[in-house]
This record gives sequence, structure tokens and C-alpha cells, in this order.
Amino acid sequence: MIIGGGSAGYVAAIHAAHLGAKVALVEKDKLGGTCLNRGCIPTKALARTAEVLLETRRANDFGIEVNNVKTNFSKIMARKNNIVSQLVSGVEQLMKGNKIHVHRGTGRILSPHLVKVNDEEIATRKLIIATGSESTPLPIPGRDLPGVLTTDDILELTELPESLVVIGGSYVGVELASIFNALGTKVTIVKRRPLRLEPVDEEIGRRFAQTLPRQGIEVKIGAAVKAIKRKGAVLSVIWDSPEGEQGVHGQMVLMATGRAPYTKDLDLSELGIQTDRGAIKVNEYLETNIKDVYAIGDVLGKNMLAHVASYEGEVAVENAFDHPRKADYRAVPNCIFAQPEIAGVGITDKEANDGGIPYKVSKFPFVACGRAVTMGETTGMVKMICHADDGRVLGMHIMGPHASDLIAEGVLAIRLGATAEEIVHTIHAHPTLPEAVHETAMGQLEGAIHLLRI
Ligand SMILES: Cc1cc2nc3c(=O)[nH]c(=O)nc-3n(C[C@H](O)[C@H](O)[C@H](O)COP(=O)(O)OP(=O)(O)OC[C@H]3O[C@@H](n4cnc5c(N)ncnc54)[C@H](O)[C@@H]3O)c2cc1C
Repeated sequence: MIIGGGSAGYVAAIHAAHLGAKVALVEKDKLGGTCLNRGCIPTKALARTAEVLLETRRANDFGIEVNNVKTNFSKIMARKNNIVSQLVSGVEQLMKGNKIHVHRGTGRILSPHLVKVNDEEIATRKLIIATGSESTPLPIPGRDLPGVLTTDDILELTELPESLVVIGGSYVGVELASIFNALGTKVTIVKRRPLRLEPVDEEIGRRFAQTLPRQGIEVKIGAAVKAIKRKGAVLSVIWDSPEGEQGVHGQMVLMATGRAPYTKDLDLSELGIQTDRGAIKVNEYLETNIKDVYAIGDVLGKNMLAHVASYEGEVAVENAFDHPRKADYRAVPNCIFAQPEIAGVGITDKEANDGGIPYKVSKFPFVACGRAVTMGETTGMVKMICHADDGRVLGMHIMGPHASDLIAEGVLAIRLGATAEEIVHTIHAHPTLPEAVHETAMGQLEGAIHLLRI
């Protein structure tokens, strides 16, 4: 029995069915959870629209005359909704095809081996909790004013706001800022501390932050927001500064201030399931302190990413089947689908430095990569961190075109313990963006071919 049908739960259900289990899944809302309905997929559908729009605007650079480019917000949102429906119905089909019994309703745990959904009590030998997370708006006056949005709300807008203030500089806030800015909204990001985008590499994060004003996104740092006020049609986001009270104004405000594990209906303390600040505690086999009860995904409050949730789903199922497997977080990719894209895996040079690890850094700019030049996408670079003694890849960080796709090579290298030399000895197709990864690996040895050594 799995409670929650998001990226963690539905993948766990399918994997368990593949391994021959009789599987039931409880979902109180739509299958696919946050990722498909209110997260990764709708934001990436909109990010693609933003990308097409930006490319169309500079079509003249490619010798294509395009005049009078206009957007139609209802069509943009309809496309996003269609993509979501298509993928949700795909998951529904997968449930049917794998003979997974989907119970519609709120799952309540009566005991480790008994779950109640609506009026039905369902016995189970193993239980996996995959109830996800929810937005956590700042607890400040004005948070409930009309026009103050969570990330869920902004994905349901019917009209493009003229201006938007984004509170918080999480990757989700930055992605949405990037999308709405491209669509024509005047965007201001308001943040207490400098935009670091952790766990992004510091240098890449800094370079990315420098691109924001050039794109037209204003960033206000040092703003510990204390209230939101409305005057007519205008919302003001207010904070104190040494010079006195300050504020920025916008038609709408997005609270991109993080998410917290969601366990509301579960009565965890009654069951004796241990938590830490709302997150369910598990061991390295993803089992809770109660035998036969596992927890996976955002409800663990750690790596709140869909691919980690799905990975944990597979690991927990195998452990439930007595095929012991530890969750291994050495190579977790993180991606930011903004303009330009950012992706990273493994340690940063600061972490290597702080940890006293002997390391070497190599970098290769996209401006020296033939494919990037043909694409007209030369901003950014690949950066690789390798162990100074044996050349093992410890980290890879990318800002630039298709960074989120390119990072897969770094993920695999770290997972397999590959060295820079092994990447160098691997033939990379020409002309492609992965050649930039190849050249960065060369920088760990004698030097990249397409960069002059100074
Ligand atoms: C705007 C946004 C953009 C994002 N973009 C990305 C991205 O690009 N890449 C990425 O990797 N991650 C992204 N994420 C994060 C990603 O969506 C989550 O990490 C992922 O959805 C976690 O999956 P989950 O299964 O743990 O939880 P969820 O997807 O939240 O699923 C939990 C499910 O459990 C159900 N549920 C809860 N309690 C009960 C109950 N008692 N009974 C029955 N059902 C219950 C809920 O209805 C929900 O469907 C994004 C998140 C947001 C908000």
C-alpha cells in the first residue's frame, strides 16, 4: 500500500507491480502529484513557451524576418493544461496497465498494516508513505490578500500580470521570474540574502545573478519582507532597511518561499512514527522507525526533487521486497530551467576546499564550442571538479544551453567513479554540446583543444 500518487508514490507503485506485488495506491487529488499538476511539468511547459518567444524575438539574427510578435496568454495556459492532462492520463493508464488498485480519497493509517480510505479498511503487509509537500508562504500580514500567490496559484492565472514581485530566490522563484519576465511582465525578485541558488556552484550562481538585470529582472537584496499591503490595484511588499522602511510595488506577488513536508492526515505521532520538524525520519533503507513502514519523496524534507522522489520510490520498494539497497545521494543532479539554464551535480569547489579535499578545477566556455556557436547560445560554461590525486570526477556544474541535459554525463561519471581521463578517452559526437564536457575534462589533463593556454 502506497499513500500518495506523486513522483515518489506512482513510481514506487509501478516498480512494486513489476516485482510481482499486489499494489494499492491511495490518492486524494490527481495522480502525478505536485510534479505533474503544479510543479515540474506545468513550469517546464511555460518555460518552453518563454524559450520559443525569446528565440522568435531574435529570429532576425538567423535571417528570418519576424515582425509584430504577440503572445496569447490563454493559449499559452491552454497548452500547459493540455500537457498536464496528457501526462496525468498517461499515469492513469500506467496504473490500469500494471493492475494497481487506485483508491480515491484520503489515506489514514490505522496501524502499520491497516489503512483506511473513505469507509474502507485495507490490510497491507508493507506500507509506503509518499504524501509530498506543500507551499509555505511567509507568515506575514497581507499574505492572504488577493493577488498574493503561491506557486500553485500562479500556474492557474487567466491573465498575464503587468508586474510581479517574487519573494524568495529559490530555484522555483527564479524559474517563474524568468518565465513571466520573458512573457512581458515586469518582474522584481526580493530576497533577504544574495541570490545563491544553493546547491548551485557559487561562481555559476554569481554569474547567473549578473545576467538577471540584463534580462530586465530587478533583484532587491537585503529585504527581510515584513508585510504586504494593498492600495487600490497595487500591492506593496515592505521591509525595513538601515535607511528606513522600503518597498516595491506590483500588480501581483508570488511567495516562492519554500515547501514543507505534508503529513496532515496521517496522525504520525499517534502511530509513533518519528519526525524531525515535520519531515518523516527514515534510515538509509528508507524505512521509518516502525517496521514495514517506509517513507519517500518530499515528505522526507531533504532533496525536494521529483527525480529523487522517484529514485527513493524504487529503493524503498526493493527494501520492502527484502532486496536490501541503501539510498545513495552522491550523484543528485539539480537543474534550474531559467534563461540561461543551470545544472549541477556533486561537490562545488568551495565544498572541496572546506572539506580539505585535494582538487583541480577546469572550465570550458560555450563560446568555444562549435555547436553552441551555431545555436547562437554562447553564454555560460562547463566547470568540472576532480580529485587531484586520482582524477575522479567529484562535481560538474554548468550554465548554458541544455545544461539540464548535459549534466547527465557528470551524474553518470560520479555514480560510476569515472575519471576525467575516462571522459577524455570517450568519443563525443561532433558538433554537439557534450563536446563542451569533453573539453572541460581535457582541461583536467593537458588542456582543452579549442582553448588557447595562456
Ligand atoms: C513550482 C514547482 C516546480 C518544480 N519543478 C521541479 C523540477 O523542475 N524538477 C524537479 O525535480 N522537481 C521540481 N519540483 C519539485 C517536485 O514537484 C517534487 O519534488 C515532487 O513532486 C515530489 O514528489 P512526491 O511524490 O514526494 O510528492 P507530491 O508530488 O507532492 O505527491 C504527493 C501526493 O500525495 C497526495 N496525498 C497527500 N496526503 C495524502 C493522503 N493522506 N492520502 C492520499 N493522498 C495523499 C497528494 O495529493 C499528492 O498527490 C517543483 C515543485 C514546484 C512546486
